[in-house]
Amino acid sequence: MNDFPVSPVGVFGGTFDPVHYGHLRIAEEIAELVGLREMRFVPAGIPRLRRGPEASLEHRVEMVRRAIDGNSRFILDEREVVRGGVSYSVDTLRELRQELGKDIVLCFVTGADAFIRLAEWHRWRELFGLCHFIIAARPGHLLSAENRPSPAALPQELEEECRERWTSSAEILKYAPGGLIFTAQTTLLDISATAIRKRVASGKSIRYLVPESTRDYIAANDLYRE
Ligand code: ATP
Repeated sequence: MNDFPVSPVGVFGGTFDPVHYGHLRIAEEIAELVGLREMRFVPAGIPRLRRGPEASLEHRVEMVRRAIDGNSRFILDEREVVRGGVSYSVDTLRELRQELGKDIVLCFVTGADAFIRLAEWHRWRELFGLCHFIIAARPGHLLSAENRPSPAALPQELEEECRERWTSSAEILKYAPGGLIFTAQTTLLDISATAIRKRVASGKSIRYLVPESTRDYIAANDLYRE
């Protein structure tokens, strides 16, 4: 426990294939709600639990770099790309903990769809010793009346691990370096990278789903065309 409030650091991992307003808006709202001193966007190298990304690493990183430009709290963290190979969040969080110190508050951000699959992640239980989790609701993965993913949606081992960790107070997160789970009431935006890729492939507009910098970059580099 920290004796005094410590301004937390947010960690937002994703494939970002491409980055879109769903990502950017939840990052902005969570940063404000939790009082993050920074939100680190960490593009995955090769994600373990899904089909390989369609755009190259360089393109995905570049799209994130341009999309967050101008937001002083948003930072691009390229460690998973630099590390190479399959990306494990546990390695990223261990490194950050070592770099930033044992007392720093780390908040790992996931959408509700990603969180309910947490027990499939590499060394997932270790994550609770390294960071808090901040869950953002996502259309199709709504939260229960207690503002959590419904217990029925969680596999039993995850539900048991989480049971004593839920908190409804964002303030309390600042007093412990990790170990708690908080669900954030962020604006529901039914935007997914999959739908964006499909729209591009079929020649449809993605205007207002992604920043203009992302839209321009996709067009200039001819990404996601079949
Ligand atoms: P894809 O459609 O390719 O699976 P995605 O849109 O889910 O991609 P990712 O880069 O895989 O994007 O997502 C990174 C993180 O952001 C995940 O934790 C995911 O749950 C969350 N996320 C993505 N889009 C949203 C959204 N619209 N609302 C809430 N969370 C989101």
